[in-house]
Amino acid sequence: MKKLLAVICAAAMVSTSSVAQENKGILGQQNTKHVELKSINIGDCKWTEGFWADRFHTAEHAMVPYMGEVLTGEVGHALNNFKIAAGLKDGKHKGMRWHDGDFYKWMEAAMYVYAQNGDENLRKEIDNYIEIIAKAQAEDGYLQTQVQLNDKVDRYENRKYHEMYNTGHLLTSACIHHRITGQDNFLNIAIKHADHLYSVFSTGERRYGRFGFNQTQIMGLVEMYRTVGDEKYLKLAETFINNRGTYKIEDTPETVGYPIGDMVQERVPLRESKEAVGHAVLALYYYAGAADVAAETGEKALVDALDRLWENVTDKKMYVTGAVGQAHYGASTSKDKIEEGFIDAYMMPNTTAYNETCANVCNSMFSYRMLGLHGESKYADIMELVLFNSGLSGISIEGKDYFYSNPLRMVDGAREYGESNTNTETPHREPYLECFCCPPNIVRTVAKSSNWAYSLSENGISVNLYGGNRLETKLEDGSTLILNQVTNYPWEGLVNITVEKAKKKPFDMMFRIPDWAIGTTVKVNGEAVDAKVKAGEFAVINRTWKKGDIITIDMPMEVTLVEANPLVEEARNQVAVKRGPIVYCVETPDLPQGTKILDIYVKGGSDFKVNYDKELLGGVATIEAPMLIRNDHKIESSMYSKVSKPDFKDAKIKMVPYFSWSNRGQSEMTVFLPVIWNNL
Ligand SMILES: [Zn+2]
Repeated sequence: MKKLLAVICAAAMVSTSSVAQENKGILGQQNTKHVELKSINIGDCKWTEGFWADRFHTAEHAMVPYMGEVLTGEVGHALNNFKIAAGLKDGKHKGMRWHDGDFYKWMEAAMYVYAQNGDENLRKEIDNYIEIIAKAQAEDGYLQTQVQLNDKVDRYENRKYHEMYNTGHLLTSACIHHRITGQDNFLNIAIKHADHLYSVFSTGERRYGRFGFNQTQIMGLVEMYRTVGDEKYLKLAETFINNRGTYKIEDTPETVGYPIGDMVQERVPLRESKEAVGHAVLALYYYAGAADVAAETGEKALVDALDRLWENVTDKKMYVTGAVGQAHYGASTSKDKIEEGFIDAYMMPNTTAYNETCANVCNSMFSYRMLGLHGESKYADIMELVLFNSGLSGISIEGKDYFYSNPLRMVDGAREYGESNTNTETPHREPYLECFCCPPNIVRTVAKSSNWAYSLSENGISVNLYGGNRLETKLEDGSTLILNQVTNYPWEGLVNITVEKAKKKPFDMMFRIPDWAIGTTVKVNGEAVDAKVKAGEFAVINRTWKKGDIITIDMPMEVTLVEANPLVEEARNQVAVKRGPIVYCVETPDLPQGTKILDIYVKGGSDFKVNYDKELLGGVATIEAPMLIRNDHKIESSMYSKVSKPDFKDAKIKMVPYFSWSNRGQSEMTVFLPVIWNNL
C-alpha cells in the first residue's frame, strides 16, 4: 500500500509540473509572492552583438563543448563516475567529492546554450547523460557517486563528503532542464532524490542536524518546490536554515575532518547573524538559498538578516572587483579556523587574496536574489561588477583555461605554489583543475547572463544589465513586450532601446543607473523625461509606450581613480583605475622589459587616454596612463631599509581590463597602484 501511494504521489507531482510549464525563469518565481522583481523566462532575452554576445558565442562554441569533452573524457572523469555507479563501466571514482555537482553545473550551462540556439544534438547528448545518471541512482533515490563507489564510507556519514552540494546542483540543474525542454526525464531523477532527502532529513534526528554544509541544496529544494509545487521541499529547505546555530560547536563523527564553527556558518543562527563568516562559497550559497526561502515565505526576520549580511559582504569584505573571500586560511573574529573565506572587515590583502571564482559568482547569485526581494538597483550593480571583473577573470578569453583564485596583484616570488595537485592557487590559468568547481560555475553564469539582463515588475520591466540584446517577453498581465537594445557597452556609455511591441496601457520601464554613472541622462525619443535619474537607483518611467519609441541612456564613461576606505590598510595611498563597470590593471607585457610591477606608481590628476583595440584580448578598451617607474627599488633588499628621495622616471603605460589579464603568458599584475598626486 505504501508503495502504491508513493507511485501515485510521484505521478501527481509530475503532472503538477507540466501544469506549471510557464514557470520558466532562472528562478521559477511565477507564483512567488514576496518579491518585487521576478525572473524573465529563460531564452526571452538573447545577446545580439557586443561584449556579452561575444562571450556567449565563446560559451556556445568553446566553453561548453570543450568542458563537455573534458568532463565526459578520461581526464575529467565525471561522466565515468556515473557510468561506473550505473554498472556500465569498471573502475574507481576519480575527482573531488563534489565532482557530481560539477557535472550537473556543466549540464545546466549546456541547457542555457540550448535555450538560445535550439541545437537538438546538444539536447540529445544531455539526454544520453541523463539516462546514465538515472541508472546510477539507487532504488531509493540516493545518488552520490563519491559515496556509492567508496566501500569505506556510508551514506550521510560525514558532511565533508559533500552530499548536500551535489544534491543542490542536481536539483537546480534538473529544474532548469525541465523548464527549457519541457521534459521530465531529469526532473524525475530529481524528484526521486529530493523525496529521499526529505525522508532522511525531515525526521529531526540530531545526527543529521549539522549536515547542511555547502548548502546548495537549499536553492535546489526551493526550485523543486517552485517546479512541482510540493510544499515539503520548501519546508525541508527551511529546516536546513533552522538547524544552523542550534548545536554545540564541537566535533562529532559527522563533522570531523573539516573545520567547524564559523567556517561553516554554524556558530550563529542565520536570523541573528550580523557578519558574513567562514568559507565564502559555503556562506554565499547559504545566503542565496535563504533569500530563495524568504522570497516564498516573506519572513521578515530572515530578510532583515540577509540585508545585514549583504551589507556586510559588499561594504566591509568585498574587493573593488566584486571578489570575496579574502584569505586562503585565517581565523574568524570568534577565532574559528577559516579556509578560503571571509576574515575581518577591511582586511583586504591584494597578493594573497583568495577570491575563489565560485565565491565571486555566488556573490552575484546572492545579489540577483536580493534584487528580486527588494527591487533596488544596487544589487544589480554588484551582479554587473562581478560579471565584468572577478567572474570573467576566472576564465581565459579563449574560454578553455581557468583560475580558481583571483587575487588583485600577482608578484613573482610573493606567493608559494604548493606541489600538491589540490593546490588551487596557480600563477596562470590552467586547462584543467583537479578541483573543478569553479570552471562550470563561471561557464553556466556566462551562458545564462542574458536571463539576468531584465526582470519583471508588477506592471512592467526592469533593465538590470546593458549589452546589445533583443527581448521578447510577456509582462505579468500576459501582454507581449519586445525590446531591441543597441549599445557598445561597456566600452561606450550610450544605450538605445527601441520598443518594437508593447501593450496599449501605460506600464513601468525601470532603467538601472549604475552607482558610478553620475551625470547619466535618459531621454525618450530625444526628449528629457520627467523621471528621477540618479546614480545607484532605477530611473522609473511610466507611460504609454508605442512601437518605435526609443529610450536613450547616456552614461559618462570617464576614467576614474578609486580609493578604498582608509581603514583598508592594504590599499593606503593606492588607487584602482576604473572606467564604467570595468576595473583595470597593469600587467608586465605592457611594461618596459624587466620592469617589476611593484615599481609602478600612477600619477594622480593626469589625463588618461582611452583606445579601443579590437585586435587585443578579444577586443578591449585600453587606458594609456601617465605613470612613474621607480628605479631604485630592490625586492631582494632586506626587510627594512633607509629611503631618501626615490629615483623616478616618467612613462606612459597601457592598462588592460582586469578580467583579461594573464592571457599573454605568465605575468605580474596589479589592480591597486600607489598614487603620486601632481601639484600638491
Ligand atoms: Zn570553485
